[in-house]
Amino acid sequence: MLLSLVLMTLAAADAGPADAGAADAGPPAGLACLTKWYALEVVQGDGGWSMKLPDGHVYLFDDGKVKSPEEQLEAPDMEDTYNLPYRAGPIVPVTPENDSCGRLRFDPLLRATYGATRNTVGTVRYTFFKQHVMVHRKALEPFKRVTARLEEAVAKDKSLAVYLQKVGGTFNWRKISDTPRQSAHSYGVAIDLNVEHSHYWEWQRPKRPLKWKNRFPQAIVDAFEAEGFIWGGRWDHYDTMHFEYRPELLDPSCRQ
Ligand SMILES: [Zn+2]
Repeated sequence: MLLSLVLMTLAAADAGPADAGAADAGPPAGLACLTKWYALEVVQGDGGWSMKLPDGHVYLFDDGKVKSPEEQLEAPDMEDTYNLPYRAGPIVPVTPENDSCGRLRFDPLLRATYGATRNTVGTVRYTFFKQHVMVHRKALEPFKRVTARLEEAVAKDKSLAVYLQKVGGTFNWRKISDTPRQSAHSYGVAIDLNVEHSHYWEWQRPKRPLKWKNRFPQAIVDAFEAEGFIWGGRWDHYDTMHFEYRPELLDPSCRQ
């Protein structure tokens, strides 16, 4: 049974003897900090620290299962999504296998936050460098802040402009190609920049071994990462056109 104690209440509450150690320690940082970015409650149930999502569903932060990298990709818990550090900063080739912070997504959180079906995702029209795109209204302000940074960068360096044209797509309710997993584009929180300047591991021939490639300039990556967007160029399964709003992965307080 779930005790439904909100985080703030719990801090002051008397913990039962069985959970004394865990309760004293408080919820894991990666769970506690989510309340900054998502409408959810941190609760403690019989199984441990959990998140109660706006749709009423409750999920353990750590489901306690040991998973292979493939199993994590298929069905991660929220804790798994933090397994790898997200390395913002200078662009470096990604060579270690399965080094892909952000490719693991806890889909129930995205569904509950942004919408569970094509028709319930709350998109709004947005003009990105003179191109009309649809983004989630909850990601609109971050998109605007990124755009302001990019405009500043382009003013200093005109060669950046080409990467921001021929935008490949934003909102698109779909699965990731050849997988049963829902794409981040389904939620209106991702944008693909100019496909003609992009590298994507699925297009690589021969398909193995993966050979990371990138042409996107540092200034563009910096602008997105500064506003909580992760970049697909940080993945061994590289997708260099792809930027996705995942602020918790760039928030140091989620990693303490
Ligand atoms: Zn994409």
